[in-house]
Amino acid sequence: MSIELPEAYILAQQMNRELRGKEIVNFNLQNHEKLQRLGFINKDSSAFNRLRGGRIESVVSRGNVIRVKLDNGMNLILAPEYGGKILYSTENGSIPDKFHLSVNFTDNSRLTVTLSGMGIIQALKDEELEHSYVYKRDFSSTISPIDDAEFTFERFSKELVSRNVNIKTVLVGKDAVLVGLSNSAFQDILYHAEIHPKRKASDLNVSERHALHDAIKLVIQERIKLGGKTQFMDLYGKQGTYTAAMGPNVKDETCKTCGVKVEKLSLGGGQTYFCPKCQK
Ligand SMILES: [Zn+2]
Repeated sequence: MSIELPEAYILAQQMNRELRGKEIVNFNLQNHEKLQRLGFINKDSSAFNRLRGGRIESVVSRGNVIRVKLDNGMNLILAPEYGGKILYSTENGSIPDKFHLSVNFTDNSRLTVTLSGMGIIQALKDEELEHSYVYKRDFSSTISPIDDAEFTFERFSKELVSRNVNIKTVLVGKDAVLVGLSNSAFQDILYHAEIHPKRKASDLNVSERHALHDAIKLVIQERIKLGGKTQFMDLYGKQGTYTAAMGPNVKDETCKTCGVKVEKLSLGGGQTYFCPKCQK
C-alpha cells in the first residue's frame, strides 16, 4: 500500500483531472492526534482552516510527493509513502469509515486521505513549503526519473561514474541521484538490467549503464501503465495490477528467465532478492 513515485504520479494525474477548479468548503480531521505528535500532520489543526475558500489550481507530483495547489496561496502536501489511501467520492458516493483528513468541496464531493504508515498530510502556504521535509526532498534539483528532459542517459551516466559506492546508495535513499525509487523498485530494476545488486556504480561499463537507465524507465512506465502495485488503490478505489518481478513475493521461487533459484542478501538496511545467474 506504500505510495511511491509511480503511484503518486497516477494519483496526481487523476486528482488534477477530477479536482481542478473545485472549491474547498470545509474539512474534517479524525484520529489525527497521534499523527500530529509524530509530525506527520501539521501540529496545529487550525492550519487546515486556511484551505477553506481555496479553489484547486493544479495537482502535480514529484518523487513520492503530491502537491495540491490552491488559488489562495495554500497547498495540501500529501505523501503516504509507507502506506495510505487517497480517495475521491462524489456527492452520493460512500467514503471510507476511517480517514485522517476529509476535504469537502462546494459540490459535495470529497477527497479523503488515510495514512497507514509513515507519511505526510500538510496544509502549507506557498512560502511555508520549504519547511516541509518531503516537499524539499522531492521537489528539488535531484533528477526525476519520470522526466525525460532531466533523466537523460548522459546526465545519469555521469552521476554513476562519479560514485564509488554500491548502486543501491545511488538509486535509493537520501544520497540517491534520483528521486522516488524504493527498495522494491530497486530489485525490479536490477533484475531487468541484469546487474548484480552488490556492484559499485562507478564499475558499470557503458552498456550496463545503458541497461540500468532503460530498466529504470521500464519499471516506472510498467507500474504506471498497470495502475500501480497490486497493494495500491487509485483515486477511485481501483486496485493496481503490477506485480514485482523480483522481491519477497518470489521467495523460494525460481527465476522466470533462467530457472535458477532466487537468492537474497542484506543490503543497505533491507533485503534484496536477485537471480544469481542472470544478474552479473
Ligand atoms: Zn535468472
